[in-house]
Amino acid sequence: MRIWAVANQKGGVGKTTSVVTLGGLLAERGHRVLVMDLDPHGSLTSWFGYDPDTLKHSVFDLFQHQGKVPEGLPAQLVTETSCPGLSLLPASTALATLERRMVGVEGMGLIISRALAQLWDDFDYVLLDNTPSLGVLMVNALAAAQHLIIPVQTEFLAIKGLERMLHTLQMIMRSQKNELPYTIVPTLYDRRTQASVKSLNLLRKTYPDTLWRFAIPVDTKFRDASQGGIVPSALDAETHGVRAYTHLLDDLLARAGAVKERQHG
Ligand code: ADP
Ligand code: MG
Repeated sequence: MRIWAVANQKGGVGKTTSVVTLGGLLAERGHRVLVMDLDPHGSLTSWFGYDPDTLKHSVFDLFQHQGKVPEGLPAQLVTETSCPGLSLLPASTALATLERRMVGVEGMGLIISRALAQLWDDFDYVLLDNTPSLGVLMVNALAAAQHLIIPVQTEFLAIKGLERMLHTLQMIMRSQKNELPYTIVPTLYDRRTQASVKSLNLLRKTYPDTLWRFAIPVDTKFRDASQGGIVPSALDAETHGVRAYTHLLDDLLARAGAVKERQHG
């Protein structure tokens, strides 16, 4: 099982869109994929036609057992989606109350890791969608993930937000004493605007080693997809946004393959 987290402390940068699109592309290639909604807003959950306001069971249930994860619970929470091979572990808005409830609970940062350990044989890839705020949910995601994808909008304010995200990441990695490799992915790129072009250049200069080599372009199909509950498909050749995500996926997989080779000598 490969676990990727998609996070940034800024909203509206393409996190949820990246989770759905990368997840859909992986499923289309025949992998068993789980997308998990760790955002109390539940946009990923809504994308698949569930209402986070009224859902009775969600990720929230995992946090109700004093830091333990009862055997069989994660599998019960997984639901199918309209996309073959793609499963969802949904969020409910109750997640917004977690921060208060989890104070001082032993092992509260490892709940998602423990839940995924139970699903190890069921999925090849897991993508974790995150809330913009740093809290117990994001700490859980970063502890569980083997790779972090940081979408960043190509505009100046977003780049400031990126510095904050990387600082947070360093803080969490120090406390967890493990190194989480990451890829910064420029999103909502519009080559006709100065702001996009200039900020992409600035990103390239500032983060030469961790920045993905291309950018995800603005593509209105994504807005239509999220509203219509559609999972973008590689077969939709007209969609240059999906083409970019296909390149991103290939690069992430190549990187994961290279890491594996290094680990096994
Ligand atoms: P986040 O999860 O970071 O808040 P979303 O993925 O929900 O961001 O995207 C925010 C908004 O931007 C949504 O309306 C989404 O449809 C739109 N969007 C995301 N990526 C793109 C893109 N590449 N082109 C056009 N619109 C996009
Ligand atoms: Mg989102």
